[in-house]
This record gives sequence, structure tokens and C-alpha cells, in this order.
Amino acid sequence: MKSYDVAVVGAGPVGSTFARYMAEKGFEVVILEKKKEVGVPLQCAGLLGKKIKKVNILPDEFIINSVHGAFLHSPEDTVLSVSKKKPEAYVLDRVGYDKFLAELAVDSGADIFLNHQVAKVDSHNGNIHFKNSPNTKMSADIIVGADGHSSIISHSFNPPTESFQAAQYLVDVGEKRFQNDFVHLYVDSKVSPGFLWAIPLSETTARVGLFADANYQQLTKVLDGLINKRSELGGATILKKYYGVIPRQNPQKKLMKDRVILLGDAASQVKPTTGGGLVMGFTCAEIASQVTSQALDDENMNILKDYPKAYDDKFKKELKVQLMVHKVFKSLTNSDLEYMFRKLKEEGAEDIISQYGDIDTQSPLVKEMIKRGILLSILPKMLSRGISSLWK
Ligand SMILES: Cc1cc2nc3c(=O)[nH]c(=O)nc-3n(C[C@H](O)[C@H](O)[C@H](O)COP(=O)(O)OP(=O)(O)OC[C@H]3O[C@@H](n4cnc5c(N)ncnc54)[C@H](O)[C@@H]3O)c2cc1C
Repeated sequence: MKSYDVAVVGAGPVGSTFARYMAEKGFEVVILEKKKEVGVPLQCAGLLGKKIKKVNILPDEFIINSVHGAFLHSPEDTVLSVSKKKPEAYVLDRVGYDKFLAELAVDSGADIFLNHQVAKVDSHNGNIHFKNSPNTKMSADIIVGADGHSSIISHSFNPPTESFQAAQYLVDVGEKRFQNDFVHLYVDSKVSPGFLWAIPLSETTARVGLFADANYQQLTKVLDGLINKRSELGGATILKKYYGVIPRQNPQKKLMKDRVILLGDAASQVKPTTGGGLVMGFTCAEIASQVTSQALDDENMNILKDYPKAYDDKFKKELKVQLMVHKVFKSLTNSDLEYMFRKLKEEGAEDIISQYGDIDTQSPLVKEMIKRGILLSILPKMLSRGISSLWK
């Protein structure tokens, strides 16, 4: 039976990044991936805040487009325009990037086995069992569940993960042309606390999608409605359709048991407000690599208990704010949203959002809006919808 220091279940971007960190530290690492090919099918809008460059390697060849700002659309199309001088986010070739990150891990010394679906792991002795190949035997001192939103590793010591569904089209708008350095974000109480997006890849093509607490048929109905209704998308040709799942952020989730830890979507390490998981997942991969290498060096698996603590220290405050924003957002009707957009425009909030807004961290903006009294000025109407329950 082959035994490794670390086995990573899932060759997604987060698992591969963690595997690379561990291989670079000199540990024997294996990545086990159920698919025959890394990265396919695409299940991502591929919009990453500029912080990505601080938390992982990102060669320019995977950047399809750079984004300076966003048009935020209310249900009746009051538009807030927010922007920065420098690129605020990048639109990625996610399929190519996932493959690149897996190759980097292998180049650093990790083994990878494709077409190897893990059926279960034993958290006491580190044995790994595979679906459809009972004769393949493997074990590891530490097992990392980076097996995505429907993680079987998480499910072995957590209740099933609650998720949002997501749908996305690749569209071509032909002669219409996008302002391709701006994304469009659309709110609608039908999909709250999710939202809709149009992310240009070029002047003529875009990824148009949404996530919500709804089934795929309901999502595509809303998406088709958006494409027919909005002038910037009207008449677009749908080139491809994708779907996916976004785990709900869950502060109660257990991130470790014995010699097993969870990482990335498997650990529900996603931003509640946007469903984005890459920047957070990469940051957690770094945190996890420090804790796991210490546990291996000291041959003391109790050290793994530091991982949930280090995660909380880094994210707890920000997640609390984002979960609060999420809850407010979910409680609003379309007329509340409309009122809020108009009031924000009147109060000059576009400049403040432009200055303090950040795709990855929302607490500085919320703080600034409270400081300037803007949140209070839009709150009274919302209060009538039971918003006060937030501060219980
Ligand atoms: C429509 C959509 C749009 C999104 N847009 C964005 C965005 O714009 N920006 C952003 O930051 N995030 C976005 N996300 C979220 C982002 O895609 C995820 O957070 C990210 O993929 C998580 O990476 P991961 O490595 O944790 O998991 P995954 O990418 O899900 O990888 C998990 C891997 O594990 C493998 N696996 C699963 N089970 C097993 C098993 N039993 N044995 C072996 N292998 C297994 C899978 O095949 C997969 O390769 C979006 C998600 C969706 C659905």
C-alpha cells in the first residue's frame, strides 16, 4: 500500500494550490481527482478581485479581460456606476487556470491520479478507499478534503451542505458591443440573496448568469427574462450553457476531524455576498499548509486543531458583516431595492462605493456608509420589512 504524507482529494484550484505548497515544503503529496481532465466543465464566472495576484500565481495568459468598474442595476433599472482607475478585477480562463495550478503542483513534486474517485476515507488511520477500484490501496498521514461543494469528506463528519444553484450562459451580443471594462450586476428579489451578472469577455461576448435559492429551471427562466429585458443584452445569441452549485457559508461547519481537514468549497469557504470562492480558498490553502506542515514535522495531529482557529482569526469578522448584508438583502422586496438604489444615487453613494467598495471585503464600505449616515437614511423603509431582526 502506497503511503503519503498528504493526500488531497480534488484537483480543483484550491486543492492543487494547497498540494503545491506542501510539495514545495518537501512533503510527499498525492492529488486524487475523480475526473479524467482537470478543470472541465467550466462552472465559474471567473471574476476575481485584484487581490488574486497577492494570494496566488496568475500568469497574464489566463486573464481574458480586466475590469475597472461595475454598473449596478436596480429592478427598475436605476443604475449606480462605480469604478476605479486601476483594474479592480480580472476575468479568467478558469479551465486553463485550473489545469495550470494542477501542473504547478506536479512540477513541484506532487503525484496526481486522475479518474480516481474517492469513496471514503478513514479519519483514524488515514486509509483511502476508491469507488470502482477496491484493489487500489492508499493511505496518508493527513487527508485534505478539497472535493468541492458536494464533498463526501465533509459529509463524513458534517450534515449535508446547503447550497445555492447557479446557471450561466456564454452569449454573443454581436453589433451591440459592451463597454468591456465594466461588469453589470442586477438585483431582483426573485433571486435574492443571489443576484445576476453579465461579465464581458470582450466587446461582443459575455458570461451572463445568476445564483439563487431556486432550481435550475427557475434559474434559466429568470436568466432568459434578463436577456430579453435588458437593452445591453437584448437579442444576444446563447453560445453555451453551464450550471453549477455554490455552497452556503456555514460558520457552524466542522473543518477538521482527527487527521482530516476540509478546504475550499468543501469547507464552504466562500464569500456569502458574491458566492466567490477562489481568493478565500487560496488564502485558506496557505493557512492550512502552515498548520499541516507543522503537524507533520512534529508528528502531532493535535496541531491540526489550530486550523479552524487560524481560519476564524482571519475571516470571522468579515464573514459576520457579509452574512449580515446577505440577510438584509434577502429581506428586501423589489420596491425596497428600488427605493434604496434611488436614495443611494441621491446621496452620492456612487463615489463612496467607488472609493471603499471591494469585491472581496465589504466591511470597510459598510462601516463608511454607517459613518456617513447613509445606511440610516435608507433604513427606515427597510425597517418596516422586519429588518430589525438583524441586530437581535
Ligand atoms: C456559476 C458559478 C460562478 C462562479 N463564479 C465565481 C467567480 O466569479 N469568482 C470566484 O472566486 N468564484 C466563483 N465561483 C466559485 C468557484 O468556482 C469555487 O469557489 C471554486 O471552484 C472552489 O474551488 P475548489 O478547488 O474548492 O473546488 P472545485 O473547483 O469544486 O474542485 C473540486 C474538485 O474535486 C473533485 N472531486 C469531487 N469529489 C471527488 C471525489 N470523491 N474524489 C476525487 N475527486 C473529487 C472535483 O471533480 C473537482 O475537480 C463560481 C461558482 C459557480 C458555480
